[in-house]
Amino acid sequence: MNVEEFRKHGKALIDFIADYSANIESIDVLPKVEPGFLSPLIPDEISHDPEPFENIMKDVSEKIMPGLTHEHHPKYFAYYTSGVSFPGTLGDILASGLSVGVFNWINCPAGTELENIVMDWFAKALGLPKYFISDSPGSVGGGVLQNSASECIFISLLVARAHVIEQLKGDSDLHDSVFLPKLVAYTSEDAHYSMEKAAKMSLTRIRLIKTDSRGKMRVDVFKEAVLNDINNGLIPFFVMATLGTTGSAAYDNVYEIGKFSKTIPYMWFHIDGAYGANAFILPEMRRFGEGMEYADSMNVNACKMLLVNFESSAMWVKDVMIMKKALSANPVYLQHDNENKVSAIDYRNYGISLTRRMRSAKFWFVFRTYGLVGLQNHVRKLLILAKKFEKLVLDDDRFEVVNEVHLGLVCFRLKHSDDKTEKLLNIITNSRKMFMVPARLNDKFVIRYCVMYEYTEERHIIESWKVITEVATHILGQSGC
Ligand code: PLP
Repeated sequence: MNVEEFRKHGKALIDFIADYSANIESIDVLPKVEPGFLSPLIPDEISHDPEPFENIMKDVSEKIMPGLTHEHHPKYFAYYTSGVSFPGTLGDILASGLSVGVFNWINCPAGTELENIVMDWFAKALGLPKYFISDSPGSVGGGVLQNSASECIFISLLVARAHVIEQLKGDSDLHDSVFLPKLVAYTSEDAHYSMEKAAKMSLTRIRLIKTDSRGKMRVDVFKEAVLNDINNGLIPFFVMATLGTTGSAAYDNVYEIGKFSKTIPYMWFHIDGAYGANAFILPEMRRFGEGMEYADSMNVNACKMLLVNFESSAMWVKDVMIMKKALSANPVYLQHDNENKVSAIDYRNYGISLTRRMRSAKFWFVFRTYGLVGLQNHVRKLLILAKKFEKLVLDDDRFEVVNEVHLGLVCFRLKHSDDKTEKLLNIITNSRKMFMVPARLNDKFVIRYCVMYEYTEERHIIESWKVITEVATHILGQSGC
């Protein structure tokens, strides 16, 4: 494809995405396909001869689009979504088109420095502790963009593990693995599964601490577990609290968990704010993050509320040297003259990948296009819409709300019945008109209804509630209730 062809097809592709977005309401949110639908429609091998780009786009329309679940749709209330906005999409296109690897300063000075700048902007906008902000006086911390929260959590655990082992080892020449059997990590049973996965991948023992009826980590149980482990000769070294759990959007008591963790030698305190910390863009929501200043590291997925297209997981550490020590090696071909300067960051030492896109571009585009006020208005709208839905549920005495609604997530169910709630969800999902997903809270089957999409309006909330109540009336009528 030459430059002129690229110009032509690129413009057509933007039109395609714009038309898709403009017409999204006319499409069912869930596709009408069964597993295995695609391979009969696509050749078994790469075409021998070059194909015109128009043919490829025709297949996108006819074969791919009918198989999509539309995450950015006013009737998508399922997962915390992958996030999208037009400026974010344009930022991704720029990063792809420039295709520069932001792994060491010399390979992309502007991409490196922009990443550091937008991470500082982001931390300031959320009111995070000053020591995460690289340009605040005395700070030795900073941020980095990873692909996912799961990656941030895994990396935090690896960094904490390397740090504790380094301290335990001192000057001895024991092998690092000698210390591994003694190390223990903690998080709540309602934390995202990626923490358990991170522990598995790093061969680390983990304790899942019980939650209370609101889905928050039981701090008393956490303290007891830590003290017991110490008495048994083990070494607690990592605890992760969650701000906005996946199941119920609960905010753990970061203050109590953090304060206690600082009394335990070697304990690293990580905060997973993948979803809920985005809301701190509203100063009135920051009360839920009280105690963040105890954190050694933290992650936030800007895609989950702040309109930055996904693979936009921000991670901050209090001391970047600790991170670099855990994650770096220094082959000759990656060395450069400026590598010891604080302002010449080598992001390859802040994560797993070497080659990384210019991830900052989409942040920069979104932050500037919306401005702080635009982003605040968007988050406020999501919270108001969720409250409206909560009220509709509370006003109908056949239903109950089972979480504290302070973000965009409402967990609800038909009173007294897991089976009927599950049936309600199945019927609605099979209609393909609305998408919600289940969760288990306090051992009850519940439906998660999460408002995320930028263009969701009150009428969509009312329409969706109408669907839910009609199906509920049908189910309850059938069972004679
Ligand atoms: N943490 C929380 C609280 C989440 O809700 C999620 C996903 O929804 C994750 C972590 C994992 O996010 P990612 O998909 O970016 O790995």
